[in-house]
Amino acid sequence: MKYLSTRAAASSPERKRFCEILLEGLAPDGGLYLPESYPQVSDDTLNRWRTVYHSQGYAELAFEILSLYIDDIPAADLRALCAKTYTAEVFGTGEIVPLRHVEEGLWIEALSNGPTLAFKDMAMQLLGNLFEFELARRGEELNILGATSGDTGSAAEYAMRGKQGVRVFMTSPHGRMSPFQQAQMFSLQDANIYNIAVEGVFDDCQDIVKAVSNDLDFKRKYKIGTVNSINWARLLAQVVYYFAGYIQATESNAEQVSFAVPSGNFGNVCAGHVARMMGLPIAQLVVATNENDVLDEFFRTGIYRVRGSADTFETSSPSMDISKASNFERFVFDLLGRDGERVKALFGEGLSKTGRFDLSADPLFAQAASRYGFVSGKSTHADRLATIRATWEQHGFIIDTHTADALKVAQELRTPAHPMIVLETALPIKFAATIVEALGREPERPAGFEGIEALPKRVQVMAADADPIKALIARECGY
Ligand SMILES: *Cc1c(COP(=O)(O)O)cnc(C)c1O
Repeated sequence: MKYLSTRAAASSPERKRFCEILLEGLAPDGGLYLPESYPQVSDDTLNRWRTVYHSQGYAELAFEILSLYIDDIPAADLRALCAKTYTAEVFGTGEIVPLRHVEEGLWIEALSNGPTLAFKDMAMQLLGNLFEFELARRGEELNILGATSGDTGSAAEYAMRGKQGVRVFMTSPHGRMSPFQQAQMFSLQDANIYNIAVEGVFDDCQDIVKAVSNDLDFKRKYKIGTVNSINWARLLAQVVYYFAGYIQATESNAEQVSFAVPSGNFGNVCAGHVARMMGLPIAQLVVATNENDVLDEFFRTGIYRVRGSADTFETSSPSMDISKASNFERFVFDLLGRDGERVKALFGEGLSKTGRFDLSADPLFAQAASRYGFVSGKSTHADRLATIRATWEQHGFIIDTHTADALKVAQELRTPAHPMIVLETALPIKFAATIVEALGREPERPAGFEGIEALPKRVQVMAADADPIKALIARECGY
């Protein structure tokens, strides 16, 4: 399998293999990588995968799917990497992504039982093992520099801790993450993990990462990399749980199901789009947003409008608080018949000049729903509280705020014809304050997380300035 950029001209022969794009972020032309084509899964293969999942487990299913996209890692190694990643010890259950039956035709797929209690572990844990494998093969090292306001940073640190050849330098706004999130990240004592609390806000952290990455000499010398959600390997890892969810919810491939996905940067639901393009019988892909409704606006109107910081709201589902959806370009590439030049005009010059584009008059826009199955809706703080309360009262379990956004939209858009699977993207303990507001009680803490706030913390506080962080990286690399 070869990969191309979403901004590549049709005539461009430029293609890359999986391990070449693994350690890269954006393509050099500013686009995102996608496979040249989506492998098609026949009825027989899907039946075989049912048996594989039920008898050999999630890791073996992951190997089957990944091997269709990765041909530059020997099969035995890829299988071993999957087996090492998706274990009951790391993900809490043998099913890895068990389905919870809510009511007739409605399920919740649990993706949040990994080390940091959010679905980002599903992809990041695999990424850590892929990085370690590939860096060892090349005899190289990598310094991951990131900015986080919560979930991404801790998922990256738990995936990379103790890995050979990798250091993680993670900036976060000093004193602004929840006590639970701070405890999760700062209690890691691994020598290759560096927590940097920046005296500033999240934007200051992002500016530091940009400033360091824009210093090309520094970037090259110290092999600075990222683990953000545009990485194709992360998206590919997420394709697997759409298959695993479908297999658990159905008895035969004649059934279609829909998925409802709490969405921010469009990485998660884009993986659903890939699964659907491979032939998984998905009826609808329900994109659920919070008050930051860039995506809902597009799917309703055909207008994509990037928000300024004054129009980007801090909400109680903070991992979906985005001003633009960094993976969205991938879907638009498919929607526009893989016309890379047009995508380049829309997302390159176009967006940077006007901050918007409008496909409402293009006949292809209607295909987002009719051909690709996308529908959307949004949810507010009041909706989250009401959904968390109703779920607790009617079903006796607690859902987190992001999952609540998706459940709310799913209930509005589900049809009797198709069962709906809502993806659970975090556990409620991570957003305890809103749960207390909704229910007047604390969510329960999974085993192993009692008293983490009292653990010793490994973090250094630094000014909102790139220079001291560069100095730290240089010192730790020792060259
Ligand atoms: C990252 C995240 C999301 C949004 O996922 P995208 O792939 O960016 O759309 C939703 N919920 C939680 C809890 C997250 O951490």
